[in-house]
Amino acid sequence: MSAPIVRSLSDLRGMVARWKQSGETVGVVPTMGALHQGHLSLVRAAKEGCDRVIVTIFINPKQFNNPEDYENYPRTEEDDARKLGPLDVDAVYVPDGPTMYPDGFATNVSVGGLTNVLCGAHRPGHFDGVATVVSKLFLQTQADRAYFGEKDFQQLQVVTRLAADLDIPIEVVGCPTIREEDGLAMSSRNLLLSDRARVWAPELNAAMEELAEGLLAGGDAADLRAQAVARIERAGFTDVEYLDLRACDTLEELTSPTRPARLLAAAWLAGVRLIDNIAVG
Ligand code: AMP
Repeated sequence: MSAPIVRSLSDLRGMVARWKQSGETVGVVPTMGALHQGHLSLVRAAKEGCDRVIVTIFINPKQFNNPEDYENYPRTEEDDARKLGPLDVDAVYVPDGPTMYPDGFATNVSVGGLTNVLCGAHRPGHFDGVATVVSKLFLQTQADRAYFGEKDFQQLQVVTRLAADLDIPIEVVGCPTIREEDGLAMSSRNLLLSDRARVWAPELNAAMEELAEGLLAGGDAADLRAQAVARIERAGFTDVEYLDLRACDTLEELTSPTRPARLLAAAWLAGVRLIDNIAVG
């Protein structure tokens, strides 16, 4: 059976009010659909942590800095509802554009600092779009906990910051990245890869793992990084936008993993932008 779909904000509010009146806790899993095992792992974590679970599906135009990317983004609503069926979620909230951004909508939520680097530097406006839609989803669902993937590590930090700064009473829970057997991080964008590109895509993660090992062994950071970029480019990636070692909490750049650190990368393969990140140490 497919999961129950809710399209209107007033229906959602009614459901949540009834749950809260009965003292039940509510978890939310925000997504843009084209669901895979990565998303479903967040849903399972939410089911374990909360009495009620809402999955949201909204392909948020405000977070796409490229209109073509927005047009091409996979849309698979029926399949998504079917995949959520066995997980027994309480609602799949699928608002339309005007529900999220009615005529006259004029507010922008912008998180400073953390958003100046990495994807923020390469995708102007992206994190404002994320912060705005996530703020709305937090307020619309009134959830007690929200589940986000470490796959989008910078997004996880941004969302944690915004909830704290705006005193939104929600706990942001980060969940580990789920990967294909060959190491490729699961992503809705993987659906856009050609068969040939799919074969080479895991090289991004493999090169990152090799680089992390080298850094932990105390190798020269610049040499190791250059070797990793060369390996990624040999696999057919073009334009390695970034391949950085950064502090987990502040995202400031590090030359060696002297404190909790993360290696983060974004690169293009056959017209598809892939991102990944791994812990170092
Ligand atoms: P998206 O639909 O791509 O906006 O992702 C919705 C949520 O799922 C975000 O919190 C992502 O970080 C998370 N997510 C996406 N891919 C994965 C993955 N491979 N493992 C864990 N979480 C993921």
